[in-house]
Amino acid sequence: PRLVRTDDAWLTLPNAWGVPVDICAGADVPVEPAAVDEALSVLETADTLARLGDAAITRLVLTPDFHKGAGIPIGTVLQTRGALLPQAVGNDVNCGMRLETTSLTADRVRPRLDALERRLRHVFFEGGRRIALSGAQREGLLRDGLPGLLSVRRASDAGVWAAVRPGDAAPGRIHGASYPTRTADAFRDWIGSAGGTSHDSIIGSVGGGNHFAELQYVAKVHDRQAAYAWGFRPGQVVSMTHSGSLSLGHQANASGLTRAKARWPVRLPEPRNKLFPLPLDDEAACRDYLDVFGNAANFAVGNRFFLALMLRTALAAECGDFASGLVYDAPHNLLWRGADGHVVHRKGATPAGGHAAMADGPYAMWGEPVIVPGSMGAASYVLRGTGAARTLASACHGAGRRVPRGAASRAGDAELDAFLHEFRVVTPLDHRAPGIARRADVLAAWRRDLKQEAPWVYKDIGPVVASLERGGVAVPVVELRPLLTVKG
Ligand code: 5GP
Ligand code: MN
Ligand code: MN
Repeated sequence: PRLVRTDDAWLTLPNAWGVPVDICAGADVPVEPAAVDEALSVLETADTLARLGDAAITRLVLTPDFHKGAGIPIGTVLQTRGALLPQAVGNDVNCGMRLETTSLTADRVRPRLDALERRLRHVFFEGGRRIALSGAQREGLLRDGLPGLLSVRRASDAGVWAAVRPGDAAPGRIHGASYPTRTADAFRDWIGSAGGTSHDSIIGSVGGGNHFAELQYVAKVHDRQAAYAWGFRPGQVVSMTHSGSLSLGHQANASGLTRAKARWPVRLPEPRNKLFPLPLDDEAACRDYLDVFGNAANFAVGNRFFLALMLRTALAAECGDFASGLVYDAPHNLLWRGADGHVVHRKGATPAGGHAAMADGPYAMWGEPVIVPGSMGAASYVLRGTGAARTLASACHGAGRRVPRGAASRAGDAELDAFLHEFRVVTPLDHRAPGIARRADVLAAWRRDLKQEAPWVYKDIGPVVASLERGGVAVPVVELRPLLTVKG
C-alpha cells in the first residue's frame, strides 16, 4: 500500500515530489483508497507550481475524517509558498460550525420536542423566519463581518432580532469575526441598490444535505476544568449550526478559479483537480479574489449567527426565556495568508490552535475550541486544540463520510424508518402530514436523500476523536448527544 504507518496515530504518503505528508488516523479509522488518489493528485500540483516560478507546495496534512471530495480530499490542509489555490478552499467558502450553550437542561426541553419540531419546521422551511435586513446592514456584514452587521442600528427588534444579545459579536469567540475587505461588485445585487429594508430570501437558509442546525445536550464531560471555563454543564442543552456562504461562496470560488485559470499557461495540460494557482506576485488578481472571498467569508459567519438566532427564538417560545453563550464559531473551508509568503488552505479541516496562539482572548488558557460533529443521531465532540505543528495547528471538522454519496442508498427503508422512529429530524417535508403519507413518490425521494445523511454513511466518531487525542492534536472536552436536527 502507498500509505505508511509511522505509529498508532499517524500515517505518511511517500511521494515523488518530496512533499512532507502527515495523515492523522489510527488503525481503526477507515481510509478510502479514492481519497488517497486525490491526495496524490494534489501533490502533482507541485510540478506545475515549480514551472510557474517561485511557488511550491510545502506541506500536506490529512485529518482523520478525510475522504474523497470533488478533486481534492475533504479533510485537507495544504500549505503553499508563493501562490494561492482557490480550489484548495472548496466551493463553500467559510463553511463552518457555530456552537452555543444555553441555560436550559435536556429534561426541560425533551417534553417540548413535538412542539419544537413543528415550530422549527415553520421557522426554517415554511416562511417563518422573515429576517429584515437593510442595505446598510448587508453591506456592513459583507465588508466587516458580524461586528459590521451588528454595528448598524436596527430598524426594529422584530422576529429573530429580538433574540440578539450583547456579546453576540464577541470577536474572541469567532475565528475570523471579520475579514475586512472592499465590497465586491459581484454582491451589489444582494446588497440591493435601493438600500431599503426587506426580508432577506437567502440569509437564514441551512443549505442542502450535510448542513444542519442541531439541538444537543452535554452527555459527558472529559476535561472538567476546560468544560467549566467554557460554560458547559452536564445535561445542558447546546446548539450547533453548520452552514457556509450559500450562493455567495460559490460565486467567490468561481471568481477565484476564473482568475487563476486565466493565468494558466496554454502549453500545460489543465489540472484535473482544478488546482489552478494564483501567484501571489500578481497582486491585483489576488486582491480581487480575496475581496470576493472575504465578502463570502463574512456572509457565512452572519448566516450561522442567524441560524443560531432562529434556534434561540424557537427554544424561547417553547421553553421560556433562557441565557445563551457563544462557545465558538469555527471555519473549515478557508485560506490564511502568512506574512512570510506561505499560505495555509484548509478544505474540510478546522483550526486547532494551542493556548499560546490564543493569547489575550478567552481561550488563552485552554487552547482553541475544536468542534467535531458526528452525524445526525450520533454523538459530537468539543475538543481543545494544542497547536500541533504536525497538522499545521489543524484538526478534523467532522467524522467524515465512510460511504460515498450515491452508494449510501443501499440501506433499506426499514433501517431508515427505525432510525427516524428513534431520532427527531426536521426536514422541509413533514413525512407524517396526511397529504404526504399517501404520496409514495414524494416519500421515496425524501428517503433517498435522508439515507445519504444517515449515521451509517459516516465514520464512527470514537476512533476519529481518539486519533486526534493520541496524535496530540486536540484534547476532548465534552461529548454532546443530539436531541433534534434540522436538515436542509
Ligand atoms: P462537511 O462540512 O464536510 O459537509 O461535513 C461536516 C461533518 O458534519 C461531516 O463529516 C459529519 O461528520 C458531520 N455531520 C453531517 N451531518 C450531520 C448532522 O446532521 N449532525 C451532526 N451532529 N453532524 C453531522
Ligand atoms: Mn461544512
Ligand atoms: Mn458547506
